[in-house]
Amino acid sequence: MSESSAGKIPAHTANATGTVHTASAAHTALALKARALDAADELAPLRDLFALDDASVYLDGNSLGALPAHVPARVQDVITRQWGELRIRSWSEGDWWTAPERIGDRIAPLVGAGPGQIVVGDSTSVNIFKAVVGAVRLLDTERADEPARDEILVDATTFPTDGYIAASAARMTGRPVVPVDPGRVLGSLGPRTAVVLLNHVDFRTGRLHDLPGITAAAHKAGALVVWDLCHSAGALPVGLDAHGVDLAVGCTYKYLNGGPGSPAFLYVAERHQSRFDSPLPGWNSHADPFAMDQAYTAADGAVRGRVGTPDILSMLALEASLDVWDGVSVAAVREKSLALTDLFLECVEAYAPKAGAGSVVPLTPVAHAERGSQVALRCAAAPAVMAALIARGIVGDLRRPDVLRFGFTPLYTGFAEVERAARVLGEVLAAVGDVADVVEVSDVAEDPLR
Ligand SMILES: *Cc1c(COP(=O)(O)O)cnc(C)c1O
Repeated sequence: MSESSAGKIPAHTANATGTVHTASAAHTALALKARALDAADELAPLRDLFALDDASVYLDGNSLGALPAHVPARVQDVITRQWGELRIRSWSEGDWWTAPERIGDRIAPLVGAGPGQIVVGDSTSVNIFKAVVGAVRLLDTERADEPARDEILVDATTFPTDGYIAASAARMTGRPVVPVDPGRVLGSLGPRTAVVLLNHVDFRTGRLHDLPGITAAAHKAGALVVWDLCHSAGALPVGLDAHGVDLAVGCTYKYLNGGPGSPAFLYVAERHQSRFDSPLPGWNSHADPFAMDQAYTAADGAVRGRVGTPDILSMLALEASLDVWDGVSVAAVREKSLALTDLFLECVEAYAPKAGAGSVVPLTPVAHAERGSQVALRCAAAPAVMAALIARGIVGDLRRPDVLRFGFTPLYTGFAEVERAARVLGEVLAAVGDVADVVEVSDVAEDPLR
């Protein structure tokens, strides 16, 4: 961030008149810019599809997507008519049984996958387990001549559940886990690399990793790649098929707005499906589940990734929520996402104190090619700042100890909201500009939201 000469003066000792004058000029210019961006925004009408009001600015769609307004009535129908009246007939007549693969096919175009390769069900954590063990088993089958290939490379900065599950999968399969910084994957690949498990976008910093490049390099080294799309599905183009990804998982309650705890998805590339040997071969993945056969025969296709009875209420809420994507291009979503995060970074630069406890350092890369759909700011007073922001209707979240996270959901976040959020952030940061204030406000920060 560049520093203006006025910006070198700590906020709490600045000449009040000069500071106010500079700030208000910047505010006016950026507010006008935001308004112009909103006026030109083709995705703007989509906001009306969501249950949102203007009292607050919701910048936590990377953690829990907002509720599409039509979903409650659809879920009501699932409960009162499908469950209440049709009861067990809904499994067949009501299309309940085939929901996991049907909804997988709805998600597929959003992540660049052709039909028949994605199945919905279970949590992301469970699907990571299926994918990592499944990848090791695929390799055992496809490269049985290479017994030395044993290492599981795992994103050292990963969302913790991925690391925990990979470590357990490694213990079970007798493979060592090698933690590797995503920026150093290329140099870590070798003849021992079996499987690489990476987050497409870092949940903490918002850094976007090079999926095409890393996937190609891993394949060249003879390894298989599992991508975790939790922070990219619904936020940016992924191109699973185009880039030859082997397996992928992702959650549906972040940018896909499926609702709290909505089921995750598992992608197994078509070329691997016939050899995909699920470590959780429940009866739903059987070729003929209702034959109730004592012997297991795996189903063909994406169905092989299923386990047990699907959680229909969550799943059909997710299916309904996906309607908001009808006719929406992921390229347009990406373009707006970058414009939103660009504007936020520009406003933060203009509004935040340049020094002191209330100053912030962006952790999210400036380069578009390396940025997901969130902005993370490091701030010494982060817990107090986020508590104060939420109290003032700007809803982001905190990643302890010192990261402020703001997620930008192009389907419903507007540019004027972004400017407003940054303006309030600037005010809050100015108020914690000296250490005494930080200590005082920190007492408030232990709120139940965390
Ligand atoms: C959100 C997220 C998860 C969540 O896993 P659950 O099993 O759904 O709780 C996992 N991995 C990453 C990278 C995430 O961002």
